[in-house]
Amino acid sequence: MDKKNIDWSNLGFGYVQTEKRFVSNFKDGKWDDGQLTDDATVVISECAGVLQYAQTCFEGMKAYTTEDGRVVIFRPDLNAKRMEDSAKRLEMPVFPQDRFVKAIEETVKANLDYVPPYGSGATLYIRPYMFGSSSVIGVKPAEEYQFRVFTTPVGPYFKGGAKPITIKVSDFDRAAPHGTGHIKAGLNYAMSLHAIVTAHAEGFDENMYLDAATRTKVEETGGANFIFVTKDNTVVTPKSNSILPSITRRSLMYVAEHYLGLKVEEREVYFDEVKDFAECGLCGTAAVISPVGKINDHGKEICFPSGMEEMGPITKKLYDTLTGIQMGRIEAPEGWLYEIK
Ligand SMILES: *Cc1c(COP(=O)(O)O)cnc(C)c1O
Repeated sequence: MDKKNIDWSNLGFGYVQTEKRFVSNFKDGKWDDGQLTDDATVVISECAGVLQYAQTCFEGMKAYTTEDGRVVIFRPDLNAKRMEDSAKRLEMPVFPQDRFVKAIEETVKANLDYVPPYGSGATLYIRPYMFGSSSVIGVKPAEEYQFRVFTTPVGPYFKGGAKPITIKVSDFDRAAPHGTGHIKAGLNYAMSLHAIVTAHAEGFDENMYLDAATRTKVEETGGANFIFVTKDNTVVTPKSNSILPSITRRSLMYVAEHYLGLKVEEREVYFDEVKDFAECGLCGTAAVISPVGKINDHGKEICFPSGMEEMGPITKKLYDTLTGIQMGRIEAPEGWLYEIK
C-alpha cells in the first residue's frame, strides 16, 4: 500500500478529491451493474428532478484503520437500510442493500491509499447518495436516477480534543410531525441552513430543535441526535417519529447498556426536564459525541454540571468505549466492523 503524502493530522473537514468513485444508473426500471470511474463530475439535464424538486437522499459513514492495521467500516448494513427508507419516502428506486454495501467496499478499496493511518485521528469519509437525473417539469418522480459513492479523507472533527459547545433553542422547526425528518434527505438540510447561519451569527455552535407541533419536546440538532445522562446515570435519548435514526446514537445506547451496564431509556423528552440532566451530548458519525456544556433558551441558560472544559464522566466513558470498539481496541459486537479485504 502506498499511502498518499497527506498531512493526516492537519486535515480539515472538507472535500478532497480522491481517485475513484462508484456510479450506477437506473433506467427503464432497473439499475445497471455500475462501475468505478475517474470522473468526479456529474452531467445531467438542466431539468433533472434533483435540480427542480430536490429529489435526492444521502448517507454518511467512515472507513478507518484499526490498531492492528485492518481497514474497516462501521455497521454499513444500517446505512444501507436507512438509505432504502429514505429512497422509498422520496419515491426513488431502492438501490439494493447488498449492492450498497458492495459498492461502498469497492469504492474504499479503490481509494485505499487515502485511508488515514491508525492514530492520526483522521478517517476516510464515505458519501453514498442518489438523485433523480432525468428531466421533470410537471411535479412527479423522475424516471431515471443515479447512485454514486465518493470518498474524501477528513481530519479529526475536534482538533485538540472535544470541548463542550453552546447551543440555542431554535425558533425554526426542523421537521414536521408527518414530514421527512426521519430520512436523510438533502431537503432537510437545505431548510436548516438559514437556522444554523443565524445561530452562528448569534455566537452559538448549534441549534436544538423542539417538536414542531407543541414546541415542548426535544427533537435533535440539524445533523446530530441528543443523548442525556440523568443525575443517577441513566442514559436517555428522545423518541420521536421525526428524528433521523442516528447509527451512532443507536450504537451508544447499546454500549451504555451492554458494555457499561447503565440503564437506558428511549422516550419523549420534555424540554422542561432538560435542566435536571447531568450531561448532554450530540451524536453522529462525524464527531461521535460532541459534549454540550450550555443551552440557551431565549436568554435563559441551562448550564450542565459537567461544565465548559471537558466531557461529563458518562459521556466520556461512552465516547471512549465506542471509539475503542471502532478502532479495534475493544471487542466489537458481532457484525459491527465490516472489514475491507
Ligand atoms: C446523519 C444524521 C445524524 C447522525 O446519524 P449517524 O448515522 O450517527 O451519522 C443525525 N441527525 C441527522 C438529521 C442526520 O442527517
